[in-house]
Amino acid sequence: MIRRDFLKYSAIAGLLVSTQTVHAKPKKGKTLKTTVAVCGAGFAGLSVAKELKSLNPLLDVLVIEQRANFMSCPFSNVWLGDIQNITFANLNYDYYKAVQTYGYDFLNATIMDIDREKRVITTNEQNVEYDYLILATGIEYNYKKLFKRNKEKAKECLVKAPPGLKPGSEHLALKRMISNFKGGNFVISIPSQSYKCPPAPYERACMIANYFKTHKIDGKVIIIDPRIKPAAKPASFLQAFKEFYPDIIEYRSHSNFKDVDFKTKTITVETFNKKTVDYETKEIKFEEASIIPPNTSSKLVKKAGLATYAQGWAKLQQPTFRSVSDDRVYIIGDAQGEYPYPKSAQMANSCGYLVAAELINRLKNKSFEYKTHLPGNVCYSMLTNNKAVSISHLYEFTNKVHVTTITSDIDTYTADAAYGWYFGLIEDVLAIKKT
Ligand SMILES: Cc1cc2nc3c(=O)[nH]c(=O)nc-3n(C[C@H](O)[C@H](O)[C@H](O)COP(=O)(O)OP(=O)(O)OC[C@H]3O[C@@H](n4cnc5c(N)ncnc54)[C@H](O)[C@@H]3O)c2cc1C
Repeated sequence: MIRRDFLKYSAIAGLLVSTQTVHAKPKKGKTLKTTVAVCGAGFAGLSVAKELKSLNPLLDVLVIEQRANFMSCPFSNVWLGDIQNITFANLNYDYYKAVQTYGYDFLNATIMDIDREKRVITTNEQNVEYDYLILATGIEYNYKKLFKRNKEKAKECLVKAPPGLKPGSEHLALKRMISNFKGGNFVISIPSQSYKCPPAPYERACMIANYFKTHKIDGKVIIIDPRIKPAAKPASFLQAFKEFYPDIIEYRSHSNFKDVDFKTKTITVETFNKKTVDYETKEIKFEEASIIPPNTSSKLVKKAGLATYAQGWAKLQQPTFRSVSDDRVYIIGDAQGEYPYPKSAQMANSCGYLVAAELINRLKNKSFEYKTHLPGNVCYSMLTNNKAVSISHLYEFTNKVHVTTITSDIDTYTADAAYGWYFGLIEDVLAIKKT
């Protein structure tokens, strides 16, 4: 039953929906006007825009995106690890095919501000008047948590030890760092607070270790983690580190990142010593590093004056995706905050379908019951060149949202499924088939 609901609000179902190509252009002039403004064309924004037009081809839907092309984070670790014949082109796509196929309008511009009283979005190109706003602008890095007010250090850290959670230069830099690696330590530092895609850094560690193993590079991947065990699929990742990379991956639990010195190439950590029952300061030498700061919702959430939790995640009227501050504003995808919904592309897709269904009902003055229409999630992590693990999240609402998780075995079947999942999702949101 739950499984069927999940399929209903997911990419897989999207593939079955016949798409319409009726265009509803925003009115011309200095200021564009639209019924629904979708901010951000990542997995969440593209999914909600597609589904809105699919459910009502005559609805005015305008997507606003700052990037010139789409680049995927899912499968970027696979590309970094140089496996499964995944190329850079397999991560990068144009927006035009989706715009043509699904029939929404697209403004390639950076959103600067949102005036909720006037319902106007200011961009660096044109202003946009809206009736309903869907914010799907992803995450922001919170370097303040690592370096307080030292902005220069934050800039240096982003450039020299990119977190690789935002697609683009960060991923290209990581690829260069891995390809040119001659030996020594490659450090991945994970924050204690929440961040985009919890399994991503552990999967990346496996992919880098796999690269070292395949290319016979005398390197170690050191993971610094404040937790007792990995933040996602813990048993599977610990098993993979031990079984596949015993001499390459060093997993340091109970370890908090404290500082980095790029001149001496040293990272300072505070590690919990079980014998002395106290923290001790340690230094780790590195050749390359990827230091991940804590994340928050996109800065547009605060700019628009929408309420957030202390950690900076948007506050929603649970179990809906409407902001607690404004009934006309929806927040989906990674920006959505403290739900028990993981920050994943599959979840962004699933929630996009849900919000589209709710909004179409709302425009017809019909009610929509979130409690019986919950999203679903499946998340794959590659562990070797042909083995992967997946986790599925199934949700139910009683007095609040409850989750049941199912973790797969580590096997080649799951690796094949990951491949199918990725290209299926790309086809769903971008209308581009793998050739
Ligand atoms: C390494 C890695 C591996 C991952 N692997 C998986 C996986 O295997 N499976 C999975 O399900 N998930 C995975 N994820 C998570 C997935 O990438 C995210 O959950 C997903 O991208 C969230 O989609 P989104 O649309 O909410 O945000 P995003 O994809 O971040 O999209 C937000 C969009 O908003 C735009 N934007 C932001 N600000 C503005 C502005 N001011 N003006 C205009 N546009 C703006 C951005 O340019 C961007 O295009 C992975 C993540 C990482 C980092």
